[in-house]
Amino acid sequence: MNDILTGLDHHATLPALQQPIWPDAAEVLKVRAELAKQPPLVFAGEVDQLRNRLADAAAGKAFLLQGGDCAETFADATADRIRNRVKTLLQMAVVLTYGASMPVVKMGRMAGQFAKPRSSNDETRGEITLPAYRGDAVNGYDFTPESRANDPWRMLKAYNTSASTLNLIRAFTQGGFADLRSVHEWNRGFSENPANARYESLAKEIDRAIKFMAACGADFESLRTTEFYVSHEALLLDYERPMTRIDSRTGNPYDTSGHMVWIGERTRQLENAHVDFLSRVRNPIGVKLGPTTSVEDAKALIEKLDPQREPGRLTFITRMGAGKIREELPKLVEAVRDMGSQPLWITDPMHGNGITTKNGYKSRRFDDVMDEVRGFFEVHYAAGTIPGGIHIELTGDDVAECLGGSEKIDESTLEERYESLCDPRLNHSQSLELAFLVAESLTKN
Ligand code: PEP
Ligand code: MN
Repeated sequence: MNDILTGLDHHATLPALQQPIWPDAAEVLKVRAELAKQPPLVFAGEVDQLRNRLADAAAGKAFLLQGGDCAETFADATADRIRNRVKTLLQMAVVLTYGASMPVVKMGRMAGQFAKPRSSNDETRGEITLPAYRGDAVNGYDFTPESRANDPWRMLKAYNTSASTLNLIRAFTQGGFADLRSVHEWNRGFSENPANARYESLAKEIDRAIKFMAACGADFESLRTTEFYVSHEALLLDYERPMTRIDSRTGNPYDTSGHMVWIGERTRQLENAHVDFLSRVRNPIGVKLGPTTSVEDAKALIEKLDPQREPGRLTFITRMGAGKIREELPKLVEAVRDMGSQPLWITDPMHGNGITTKNGYKSRRFDDVMDEVRGFFEVHYAAGTIPGGIHIELTGDDVAECLGGSEKIDESTLEERYESLCDPRLNHSQSLELAFLVAESLTKN
């Protein structure tokens, strides 16, 4: 193992929550050695560039759109599914760029989102208890002893699937697929659907803006490509540690499994391994903040993860719930503002709004999601701080997992098109609708 691994492993004795219980420790070491030999998925230069982009977002000069599956799966890492997700994010980004009159930083919850925290180690169905599904990097979803057995070699498959996913993302976003004019055409399809009539006027405004740009001789050639970053929750330390490498230019450690990595709500304890590990890498770092976050927690996370107050280094991803955000968020943003710190604040309007439907589905109401987004903007405008982006669980496909939206998905529709193995995602049309609603409220401010 190289020096950086030993250096970071020096701290491996700290408690790490949400780690799988691997059946065979020797196998884990083999997998880690194998991962440590693989090429990096991202390069330090790209990661530094992202930090600059996020610094702009934190300063109110750009807006971050981060989105993708709750849990990526090996089976769904197909060309069509990846294309649909990238396409959805690009479509949303055009609408948001118009609404915010600012560059939108595009970032997938993609190419690495293969591990999940769970509330319990086990799952019981009837008489049978098996290990809980922890994401494709750990075990399989099928409820059989073979599939649910934790297998460290799955981490290598997660690496390879991330590599092929990222390869396709790079091809799409650099090869002409992301051309502003085609993205705009796709959006026309959305706004011409009678169900979305209320978004027609904004869609027309965007159309006129693009014609205006063309008339002014804008260089559309340069808009054929776009920057696109990838991110995931850095949960599995047996994966993240061997993917961490020293950059030969600067001598700094980078977690090369993704451009940005974040710490989940369940693993953000100050003294534990996740916070410690991520405090040592140069990537931009996110931390999820739920409704129980205290002012002291937020301040201590800043001291630990961003002691230099480096612009773009730290993103707070708040996930309070629609019913709580207006009560719980103000004290955090005010205290952080008053300590002179300027992390990037973004909203995750998904994870505080979970419900279980009468017919037994984990779902979320589109209206609650939108209400949390509105609350997020209200709180920041009132405090004079900057609402810098959104973090959404979404898919580019026509699934039915979240309730409502202009297509009025109801509980019975969930029975037909529910595909998520984990949390419910906005489908393609709900995602665009959210972008239009956010853009509408931004243009009013
Ligand atoms: C998630 O992003 O899928 C997740 C588990 O979120 P949180 O850590 O906010 O609960
Ligand atoms: Mn989730």
